[in-house]
Amino acid sequence: MTSTYARTTTSAWRNWAGTVTARPARAESPASVDELAEVVRRANADGLRVKAVGTGHSFTAAAATDGVLIRPDLLTGIRDIDRTAMTVTVEAGTPLKRLNAALAREGLSLTNMGDIMEQTVAGATSTGTHGTGRESASIAAQIRALELVTADGSVLRCSAEENPEVFAAARIGLGALGVITAITFAVEPVFLLTAREEPMGFDRVTAEFDELVTENEHFEFYWFPHTGNCNTKRNNRSGGPAAPPGRVSGWIDDELLSNGVFQVACSLGRAIPATIPSIARLSSRALSARTYTDIPYKVFTSPRRVRFVEMEYAVPRERAVAALRELKAMVERSPLKISFPVEVRTAPADDIALSTASGRESAYIAVHLYRGTPHRSYFTAVERIMTAHSGRPHWGKIHTRDADYLAEVYPRFGEFTALRDRLDPDRLFGNDYLRRVLGD
Ligand SMILES: Cc1cc2nc3c(=O)[nH]c(=O)nc-3n(C[C@H](O)[C@H](O)[C@H](O)COP(=O)(O)OP(=O)(O)OC[C@H]3O[C@@H](n4cnc5c(N)ncnc54)[C@H](O)[C@@H]3O)c2cc1C
Repeated sequence: MTSTYARTTTSAWRNWAGTVTARPARAESPASVDELAEVVRRANADGLRVKAVGTGHSFTAAAATDGVLIRPDLLTGIRDIDRTAMTVTVEAGTPLKRLNAALAREGLSLTNMGDIMEQTVAGATSTGTHGTGRESASIAAQIRALELVTADGSVLRCSAEENPEVFAAARIGLGALGVITAITFAVEPVFLLTAREEPMGFDRVTAEFDELVTENEHFEFYWFPHTGNCNTKRNNRSGGPAAPPGRVSGWIDDELLSNGVFQVACSLGRAIPATIPSIARLSSRALSARTYTDIPYKVFTSPRRVRFVEMEYAVPRERAVAALRELKAMVERSPLKISFPVEVRTAPADDIALSTASGRESAYIAVHLYRGTPHRSYFTAVERIMTAHSGRPHWGKIHTRDADYLAEVYPRFGEFTALRDRLDPDRLFGNDYLRRVLGD
């Protein structure tokens, strides 16, 4: 059979952070489920492994392959909006920003999302991308049905009613179970959120952490290492009216301070690390309190133009403050100079086998460093603290855990690997990262 879809032989593939490169044997851009199934069958016949990529925003090598790389570009768009079921079905390669804008035009919205919206819907959900929230956090937990092409080239659909054991695992499937072709998300009528950003001392935030989490629909904060300063953000639904940040003040906070000036500060800190503590004190004071009201994606997400590397661990929520205090003490007694704030978010327990919040209420502690800064000693020290609290690493962010460790902190790990054995016994969708985190 001759196929008409775009096909290119590739040069190297790189992730957003520039930390992972791969040299696939070939790249394909299927434009339909049938074309994608044909790509999978042909790779199988050629003895090549297969990996679908999103936008390469994972810091781990989750999306790397030496086999056939499937690009998302032509598998995009809204398939269906069901206003009775209140769901949207979207092609797997659709960027979240396109989904958010399309939903807003229809008067609809997802319930929650992460800090950015560059990723594809399949890429974001496959590693468990999350925001912060008391009742919702993970994007994958908002999935109502999934369609994927499995290793034999057949199309498998799953939901709570249809193939529920696949649904339980495939919503956060790490690309290990098949290539997702479409995702059905729950949606709700678009609503307004009021964001209240406010500087607060580290001691106060940690002392009041439980109240701040339970009293707000979405609470998060950033702690600036080398200081006792934090910036808190509370997002709660509001009856309106919409009051977006003023053009000038929004530009100063979102573009100038969070991207432009921050970029300069990070470059200076990387060149002369001794300046970092003073920069941290200055920048943590530069952000002032502000309140604004807008539709969800405009409140939850913002552009991140300063490139960085990141590690993030989910710990049981009741351990978060202890883990964070240990992290602060570790930074204070070490010679480390950390220019990026530490981000703390929360999530309710969910029912997805490999979700970082699977079966337990969780808090996320994320550490970042400006790209090009050696990260090993900081991340190793942080990882030691987080793993002592039974931490689960974000699947898309730097970590060193292997299948033995992960089997201990995920009670449903065996359920996932058994399903993988059934759906992909020959590891057509395997790569080095999956071998490390899931085993052979
Ligand atoms: C600036 C920045 C901000 C971020 N903010 C957050 C945040 O707020 N919260 C958070 O939790 N994470 C965050 N992340 C992490 C990011 O959301 C995840 O790493 C996410 O998986 C990246 O999505 P992607 O589309 O780039 O997918 P990729 O990184 O390209 O791929 C991720 C995984 O999905 C698989 N995959 C992709 N498409 C398919 C498909 N069709 N079928 C099957 N598998 C597929 C890939 O094989 C790979 O295993 C951030 C990352 C960056 C760089």
